[in-house]
Amino acid sequence: MNTSRRSFMVFSIGMGTALWLTRARADAPHLSEADPAAVAVGYKEDAAQVDKAKYPAYAAGQTCANCSLYEGKSSDAWGGCSLFNDKLVAGKGWCASYTNM
Ligand code: SF4
Repeated sequence: MNTSRRSFMVFSIGMGTALWLTRARADAPHLSEADPAAVAVGYKEDAAQVDKAKYPAYAAGQTCANCSLYEGKSSDAWGGCSLFNDKLVAGKGWCASYTNM
């Protein structure tokens, strides 16, 4: 097998794997606010519902969609979060692990 053909095959396999992973991630279940892992960090699907007395670090305008750990596009209603690998979080959501660095 020549080099260009081998490169094409490796590229194709890589792209297929990336597409499969993207689709698998899009089908992931939504994180429930009742999930113990979500409760531990005060996750809310709607940032407006954050308990501001309990989480004084929360500031208006902070949402999952502009958090550094959000893996979706800022316009996505739901997206991955590196904190909750197997579940999607709401773009309008928030949790105490919010960061924007
Ligand atoms: S770490 Fe960021 S993206 Fe993940 S749930 Fe918390 S605020 Fe949302």
